[in-house]
Amino acid sequence: MIKILYSADPEDWLEYELNLHKALDRVGLNYELSTTYDTAEEIDYIIYAPDGTLQDFKAFTNLKLVQNLWAGVEVPTANKSLTQPLARMVEPGLTLGMADYVMGHVLRHHLGTDQFSNARPGEWLGENIPALAQDRMVGFLGLGELGLYCAQKIADFGFQTCGWTRTQKTKNIECYNGPEGLDNILSKSDILVLLLPNTPETNNIIDANNIAKMRDGVAIINPGRGTLINDTALLDALNNGKVASATLDVFQTEPLPADHLYWTHPNVLVTPHIASSTRINTACDVVAENIRRGENNEPFLYLVDKYVGY
Ligand code: NDP
Repeated sequence: MIKILYSADPEDWLEYELNLHKALDRVGLNYELSTTYDTAEEIDYIIYAPDGTLQDFKAFTNLKLVQNLWAGVEVPTANKSLTQPLARMVEPGLTLGMADYVMGHVLRHHLGTDQFSNARPGEWLGENIPALAQDRMVGFLGLGELGLYCAQKIADFGFQTCGWTRTQKTKNIECYNGPEGLDNILSKSDILVLLLPNTPETNNIIDANNIAKMRDGVAIINPGRGTLINDTALLDALNNGKVASATLDVFQTEPLPADHLYWTHPNVLVTPHIASSTRINTACDVVAENIRRGENNEPFLYLVDKYVGY
């Protein structure tokens, strides 16, 4: 009998319980699923999110996998007691949600929608005809599971599209890597989408130095992580017009404190970390598939490389 422990948001348990049973039954496993356990050694799999209670993984000596329910893994990778294999969440609902968010906000910046929403009565901004999508470059920092899907949607819509990654990539959009690749993408993007994970290497990547390399009037969309941006540098660039506008979903501190300057900046749209979320029904299929793989000695999907941090 496989023993599976759920340690994530207790409020989600009932919905996870229902959907996990369906998914685990579909793959034909003989299992016990619970939020509690008698002895840690008996647990084979932990379905985990940082909003659960579990902090110390040391006693789980027979654990085969910790399956994170979130895409971001900065919390479990920083947990020194978690030495067992760790998988992050990649699932169709999360990916589709992010594509909707990115498409919506790229189009908002592209069409200059905010200037019309903010126009005073009688202010007829008839001169402000947007460029065509084919004449705008949308750059993605991060072409992982989310970034690549979003970039492909943006390219399919008709925008010029390019992306930057840690390792070299060959895709059907322009791909860059390394410091020179970063300079290149910064200098050519009209709209920049940040879909990098939070790691020591990506921390503060949008700082004054890199902002200076961007096009004048660039728009920045950040559904990645708040740590990617040096807030002081971005606010300076928004104030002097180097960065025309920003859509920010993630922040150094969440919820974003009420007195933060982003809330009141006329060229910033704050969204409350809703760019995308794990959808429980589709996520449970991925969890069940990973447990099935574990039981059949097949490689797990979406394992995190703790050394690089994602
Ligand atoms: P992936 O791990 O699949 O992709 C990460 C991408 O970032 C890869 O292309 C990777 O390069 C690139 N990358 C990582 N480190 C570097 C670096 N040092 N230099 C250049 N490129 C780098 O992640 P996902 O696409 O699944 O998710 C991305 C992030 O989105 C998550 O980590 C999370 O923080 C955020 N997120 C936010 C949500 C929200 O609601 N706001 C919801 C879900 C996720 P390479 O391809 O070479 O490995």
